[in-house]
Amino acid sequence: MTRETNDFAQQFASDNYAGICPEAWAAMNAANQGHATAYGDDVWTTRAANEFRDLFETDCEVFFVFNGTAANSLALASLCQSYHGVICCDASHVETDECGAPEFFSNGSKLLVAPAVDGKLTPTAIRELATRRQDIHYPKPRVVTVTQPTETGRVYSLEELQAISAACKEHDLSLHMDGARFANACASLGCSPAELTWKSGVDVLCFGGTKNGMAIGEAVIFFDRKLAVDFDYRCKQAGQLASKMRFLAAPWVGMLESGAWLKNAEHANGCARYFADRVGCIGNLEVVSKVDANSVFLNAPEDILNALRSRGWRFYTFIGGAARIMFAWDSDLKRIDALLSDLEECACAASTSSTTK
Ligand SMILES: *Cc1c(COP(=O)(O)O)cnc(C)c1O
Repeated sequence: MTRETNDFAQQFASDNYAGICPEAWAAMNAANQGHATAYGDDVWTTRAANEFRDLFETDCEVFFVFNGTAANSLALASLCQSYHGVICCDASHVETDECGAPEFFSNGSKLLVAPAVDGKLTPTAIRELATRRQDIHYPKPRVVTVTQPTETGRVYSLEELQAISAACKEHDLSLHMDGARFANACASLGCSPAELTWKSGVDVLCFGGTKNGMAIGEAVIFFDRKLAVDFDYRCKQAGQLASKMRFLAAPWVGMLESGAWLKNAEHANGCARYFADRVGCIGNLEVVSKVDANSVFLNAPEDILNALRSRGWRFYTFIGGAARIMFAWDSDLKRIDALLSDLEECACAASTSSTTK
């Protein structure tokens, strides 16, 4: 079978190409015993929520939804009224990849977009947007959302987050974190989930399970319980209340009890470093920015990228303008080596053809 037709071969287009990790799978299997009360009134859901309280070292309020778009949109909607504004950066998933869901579920809260480098908001950008207009004709800024790690694979340091949180407090803004890859940020910084969230001023976190090795599911975690009032109704109305909730919750129990959430992220981040260390030595290729998490962005001439595509490799180029190579909980070093050697061959062929022209 040629590489092009092997549909089961690992790709590095996104971490959501990967399957379900053994720990999540085993917990789903264990939950598949007999009957359980529906809509979250079951032991698995209680256990999963308590696991999060242990992990975050606080009595947070926890909800389970199907995907990240819903998690972000509903969390943001719970933080503002329809006439409020949500400060985000131009590359943020809520702005570029959620089909207007944050505005839809908040009945029109406007995203106030800051131009940003590496997908990072800064206190200066927040202050600028929070004070740009004070009149009644403009939406009142009420929330700030940050993505950790960012869409371009950078991680906010604790100091950066604390400075953002200070700017939020100055302007009476809540702080939301899109943590579709939150585990990768924890693995990257080596700090505790508590330090990375409520201890640094985060009010609500969307903790991604899908890209971390689960089949489906994100947890919405409110560190300020007052903000979670009626969130269950919001989920239900949005079609995000699973009736067989135990199957959304159980994988979290498997991930958190076993430590797989962190192990998976460490593996994926390690693969990104491995790849970046080697790909940087290939002529004509340039790693665009610092590799903090599980993605590497490559600047490469279009003919090299096309040659790679024709060898069956998939990757996205619409994020940040470069080729994104992204690693998952199960990324296989042999397959990474195969990509590296194809890259080397394609780069070499491209440079010989350009010198013989
Ligand atoms: C993947 C992702 C999400 C969630 O996307 P869904 O497809 O809705 O699950 C949210 N934010 C970021 C930054 C993501 O990469």
